[in-house]
Amino acid sequence: MYHHIKQLMYTVRVDKPDPRFGNMLLEQFGGANGELAAAMQYSIQGLNCEDPERKDMLMDIGTEELSHLEIVGTLARMHLKPMKTDRKAAEADPLIAIAGGGGVALCNSMGDAWTADYLKITGELDVDLRSNIAAEARAKIVYERLINFCDDPGTKDALQFLMTREITHMKAFTAALESMGKDRFTIGKIPPTPELVDQYFNDSTGTNAEGDADARGPWNEGGNWEYVQAPAFQEFKSEKRGTRTTDSVTTLAEAIGEANPAQPERNPAGGAKHAGAKQAKGKKEN
Ligand code: MN
Ligand code: MN
Repeated sequence: MYHHIKQLMYTVRVDKPDPRFGNMLLEQFGGANGELAAAMQYSIQGLNCEDPERKDMLMDIGTEELSHLEIVGTLARMHLKPMKTDRKAAEADPLIAIAGGGGVALCNSMGDAWTADYLKITGELDVDLRSNIAAEARAKIVYERLINFCDDPGTKDALQFLMTREITHMKAFTAALESMGKDRFTIGKIPPTPELVDQYFNDSTGTNAEGDADARGPWNEGGNWEYVQAPAFQEFKSEKRGTRTTDSVTTLAEAIGEANPAQPERNPAGGAKHAGAKQAKGKKEN
């Protein structure tokens, strides 16, 4: 059950109301990474959770997010208040001023209505915890940007509190996930296909004018990684498993040449359909 206590979780002070900033604050009220989304995501995950210990954590944090919603709503309302009477202030957010009477509404900073589509609830606890860690990271960075665009000391103080709590939640969700003792790459019960799972496909090849080339790093080399060059132009090693051969293709042009030995000459009627032929045709017309 829920019980409302007539006191904010953190005291809110606004020294100088700024309707435009109030409008930006709505992002954390009814936006995709806002407090209502967080409260609903964790609370509904908690309702579905069959692990009593982590369910307790989801309900604790989901409930705290409702208290955050109350803080952001109070803060935004204080900033939006001049819209009630001042035409210039009302122009900062006509929707809030004209349709909402200068109060807060469950919409984002652009006036889009809050939607349950924002919520990530899969019913698989470890998958949900990963979503929650990402959600907290997004909430943190949004608060940081709000702080950077704010020059009101009282508002900054409250935002610093809210931003800090998101990192606290991130730590709790991370610890809860790690304490489940699951292998990082084991999701659900069906194992991935051996060999294929360790193939890194170099699907973006070549070097551009700025010198951006293919990058190598722990995401595609070392350990069990097998680096497959331009797999679109490679033979299937195994139709059944979908793995590719690792025969090296050095350049994209070479790859296209190998895959499409029939260049325009082979299609004198202009019926060529592959990219190489199209490019050649385009050049002639220019
Ligand atoms: Mn929060
Ligand atoms: Mn949070």
